[in-house]
Amino acid sequence: MFLPVSREEMTRRGWAELDVIFVSGDAYIDHPTFGAPLLARWLESHGFRVGIIAQPDWHSKDAFMVLGRPKLFFAVSAGAMDSMVAHYTPARKLRHDDAYTPGNRHGARPNRATIVYTSRLKEAYKDVPVVIGGIEASLRRFAHYDFWEDAVRRSILVDSKADLLIYGMAERALLEVAVRMRNGERLTQIMDVRGTCRIAKPDHHPESATDREPDALLEIPSFEDAAADRQRFADAFRLAYAEQNPWVGRAVVQRHGGRLLVCYPPALPLSGPEMDALYALPFEKNPHPSYTEAIPAWSQIRSSITSHRGCYGGCAFCAITMHQGKQIQSRSQESIVAEAAALGRQHWFGGSISDVGGPTANMYGTGCGAPDGGRGCRRESCLYPSACRHLAVDDRRALSLLKAVRGVSGVRHCTVSSGVRYDLLERQPGYFRELVGYHVGGLLKVAPEHLADHVAALMRKPGRKRFEDFLHRFREESALAGKRQHIIPYLMSGHPGCTLEDMLELALALKKLGLKVEQVQDFTPTPGTLSSCMYHTGIDPLRGTRISVPKSDREKRLQKSLLLCHLPAERPYVREALELLGKKELLGELTGLRAAPFVRGDSPGGPVRLHGKGKRKAR
Ligand code: SF4
Repeated sequence: MFLPVSREEMTRRGWAELDVIFVSGDAYIDHPTFGAPLLARWLESHGFRVGIIAQPDWHSKDAFMVLGRPKLFFAVSAGAMDSMVAHYTPARKLRHDDAYTPGNRHGARPNRATIVYTSRLKEAYKDVPVVIGGIEASLRRFAHYDFWEDAVRRSILVDSKADLLIYGMAERALLEVAVRMRNGERLTQIMDVRGTCRIAKPDHHPESATDREPDALLEIPSFEDAAADRQRFADAFRLAYAEQNPWVGRAVVQRHGGRLLVCYPPALPLSGPEMDALYALPFEKNPHPSYTEAIPAWSQIRSSITSHRGCYGGCAFCAITMHQGKQIQSRSQESIVAEAAALGRQHWFGGSISDVGGPTANMYGTGCGAPDGGRGCRRESCLYPSACRHLAVDDRRALSLLKAVRGVSGVRHCTVSSGVRYDLLERQPGYFRELVGYHVGGLLKVAPEHLADHVAALMRKPGRKRFEDFLHRFREESALAGKRQHIIPYLMSGHPGCTLEDMLELALALKKLGLKVEQVQDFTPTPGTLSSCMYHTGIDPLRGTRISVPKSDREKRLQKSLLLCHLPAERPYVREALELLGKKELLGELTGLRAAPFVRGDSPGGPVRLHGKGKRKAR
């Protein structure tokens, strides 16, 4: 049975009142991939009565009152994506679609949904606590750079006026808060829960805000300092970033005016049995029956299986480090095989599992092999700048898993469409062979992101040589398996530290390797990432070095065009980029056209000012 979304559905369950009501910016799809249903089912399994208000009309408070007043609190999330990322392109243009909404329609949630939803709830029920969470709240928990305002904003906990923020994967924190409130504690008395942030009163000394020892607190530069001074912003980021290990991380305090944001250490990771129990909850594995239109996000994931969470790669532009953490939390093979078998029983299942993976597919079953299990570790990545000697990447579990899923009755194909780390595959020969032999489906997604080594280093990626070695082996293994298969390289333009010259180097390297790119991600400084800090400050906060940052739309457009140089529509931009670099002779090599003299006005848009190394070449 679906969780109730209306009074009628509450009545059908015999519930007059709910304990916790989830408010989400996504449509209600009862599947563990989506945060609100996952957490709602988790609380339900611990005896709480929960309901869901999905994509409420935020123009008045009425839609927030359809399930009545909850006994404990409202739990608010913007949805699976930050609402600003969901609504705008990297060029800050409004998107016209939304994959998490029936009919793929834009406009079912507001900009800054967490803040708007909280405000409506406070209008509706002034005295009911509101707990915010999900990716939007999690990544905006400290003072952060907001690309859409081009300004540093306060913690979203301050701006939303919510009562508590839960960051990261929320099962433990949410359950502890709910249980303690059920046992009679008021939310304002709950001051010490891992994975949460709260606001302390102006006269409240931070050391009394936690039951931890005083030396377990770290104060970072205040919102006001970080907003006024880029170096102070970079310092605040570096200090908070270093406290992500749940075992040694300290509570972090950041002043906002007279108030104190207190961010407790991250929640401890879930064990394998806990992960299994979570994914065995009675999900309907379908969108709520009230929807009459298709939801694209559902079509994408309905035949996929999550095998684990967490990623220890530490890529600079990725939110996983600050949200899921770097500890890999893997489900057991039995649990995943049971899910595959259940998929096989769905009437719509055609025999193909579209993915068995997580943030990085080949991290399943791997992790820290240090004697203390990484409890004392302060490295932000287990793979960068080189693989840690303690990293245990044994591929036997992952290999056995793929074979087992392939053998499930009713499963004809099982592809791995989550990205893989190719620098790990070097050390996972069995998994590599299995992947190439049975699970690629003709195309394997990998994310070198850049092949100019200094840019790859800023991204915390392995660089050109590792990628070339991998590509060589992939082609060899595919030939051995008798298959014609290809790589889809995910690449990024416009990253901090990347010049037009670097993009030319990348384009020429791809040509040499015989790779064509269909899609290029133009870097977007999403809240809370290392790369966004570089974008805003021009500083690599972990190394303390200054870097140049491409910021103008025009320069970013030219960077992108060099990767898409084989497309006719890009040729005017490619020509302009080459002219700026003084490399007109490369036009033929990149586009297949004869070099032609540059005519100003030939490309759409005016002249461009370059930053960094490319500037030397500009006219
Ligand atoms: S000790 Fe090494 S493998 Fe373990 S968490 Fe730290 S970096 Fe990763």
